[in-house]
Amino acid sequence: MENIQPIIFPGVSADTPLIMAGPCSAESREQVMETAAGVAAAGVKIFRAGIWKPRTQPGGFEGVGTPGLEWLAEAKEKYGLYTATEVATRAHVEAALASGIDVLWIGARTSANPFAVQEIADALAATGHAHSLTVLVKNPVNADLELWIGALKRIYNAGVRRLGAIHRGFTAYGHKLYRNEPLWRIPIELRRRYPSIPLICDPSHMGGRRELIAPIAQQAYDMCFTGLMIEAHCNPDCALSDKAQQITPDALHYILGNLVIRDGSQQTENLSELRRRIDASDDELLELIARRMSIAREIGLYKREHSMPVVQPTRYNALMQRRVEQGIELGLGEEFIRTLLAAIHEESVRQQVNL
Ligand code: PEP
Ligand code: MN
Repeated sequence: MENIQPIIFPGVSADTPLIMAGPCSAESREQVMETAAGVAAAGVKIFRAGIWKPRTQPGGFEGVGTPGLEWLAEAKEKYGLYTATEVATRAHVEAALASGIDVLWIGARTSANPFAVQEIADALAATGHAHSLTVLVKNPVNADLELWIGALKRIYNAGVRRLGAIHRGFTAYGHKLYRNEPLWRIPIELRRRYPSIPLICDPSHMGGRRELIAPIAQQAYDMCFTGLMIEAHCNPDCALSDKAQQITPDALHYILGNLVIRDGSQQTENLSELRRRIDASDDELLELIARRMSIAREIGLYKREHSMPVVQPTRYNALMQRRVEQGIELGLGEEFIRTLLAAIHEESVRQQVNL
């Protein structure tokens, strides 16, 4: 994906964050028009609204379908907005483009399915002007960077050059703070490998709750994301989908006005010095881990000679318990220490098994 073009429209430049906002779903003409008016007044140029809604459970509100496209066209015309909607099939692509939608996005459930993504890619290529279309690919629901990249490549290979990625978090099982876990290292790795692909954060689907939108959006800015996609609704409490995470256009205006935009190009001397120290610490850290693994291999040989099992759960539990307490005293987060120790232990076991 060598030749990505920036996502710019007349009035939307690459110098300011790319902001998209609008309801989870288009519900009625009135709701679309009222929300569009509010979003435009908040200074947003790209209006999002779901027309076809992929719902986890059958029987929920599955979107108004094609008639909603006319409402988006009307909002575009009346408020000078660009419009964006989710597509999941060839028919969606054709209908959305025929009605003048400016930005298509592929949802998280669809980007996890290569057959569906390829169908969309083929429909985009069949237009004969894929290079002038703007397509955003949300991360797949599962935390699989290769699957996300695969979906982006299918769209790129169809000729789309105004291509972007939306980070909306990943499904995790059980009780959790976020509706979808951010796992920031995944979008950051995507950016390391494909620095020219604009990275947009969707704090609405990530947080799943209104209160989390501002802090997540700020985190995204702190990591120099290109922009945001935020769900806004003229009457969030009555929304037919995702009501807990939708905010009013006024709240959107307030949040956008209070976000601090970092300058990713700034490089002060102090920062360079701090970075050298971080790099030196990372060197030590890796050497230390390598040394620990070499001891683990020696232990592995000993265990093999004495017919002992590689994993001894009581030893592992005791070690984990002790180090978690120590880590907490050192000011590290408990979850982080557990993840780190589990990863180190897993690698030790792998090294011992593969002796
Ligand atoms: C949406 O943007 O409304 C949506 C369905 O998002 P996701 O695909 O991230 O769940
Ligand atoms: Mn939604």
